[in-house]
Amino acid sequence: MKKVGQYDPSGYFLVEDVFCNDTREPSAIDYSKPIFKWLEHCRNDALEKWEFIVAGEQQQHQKQKAFLDNNEKLQLPRFKAVHMQKTRFCDLGFRLGAGYLYCHQGDCKHLIVIRDMRLIHPEDVQSRASYPLITFQSKLRFRKCSICKIYKATKVTVDDKWALENPCYFCDLCYYMLHYANGSLLYSDFSVYDYLHE
Ligand SMILES: [Zn+2]
Ligand SMILES: [Zn+2]
Repeated sequence: MKKVGQYDPSGYFLVEDVFCNDTREPSAIDYSKPIFKWLEHCRNDALEKWEFIVAGEQQQHQKQKAFLDNNEKLQLPRFKAVHMQKTRFCDLGFRLGAGYLYCHQGDCKHLIVIRDMRLIHPEDVQSRASYPLITFQSKLRFRKCSICKIYKATKVTVDDKWALENPCYFCDLCYYMLHYANGSLLYSDFSVYDYLHE
């Protein structure tokens, strides 16, 4: 995103009812603002959605009947907004295993789960400055050309009638051999993209 000039430093973590807005960069936008506006101006919509969410949770816990019998008026959570960089885990109330949200780059959303917590052990890295520690990093996956199965794929086509698969991965050589004759494209009713890795 930085390369194509589309990088947006804004983002937030939503943990329970707290929006932790990433406002480290002066140009970052407070993404929670329109949500608070919506909560204020479309209270009934918000309440209706919240009822669905709570009803779903109750169903999972097989308490649906109890929920339906319960005539108490549902209340929306009291959402708050804080600066992410000024907020520590000990300032937040969170539940292990609950699904939280990380939103950045407009509307790219990731599910965040705090899986476990424990006291520090003597074998752990003791320096505070080294945290957060990365304990897992998914490996980049490079695909091979679906045709020769030798070279790395550099192009991927979609809805390509002469291709083996859809989508289909090609090295430069196989891509040109299949799609070009005497330097001109044989057919163009397909989409092609550069392929790097996934
Ligand atoms: Zn993302
Ligand atoms: Zn190839």
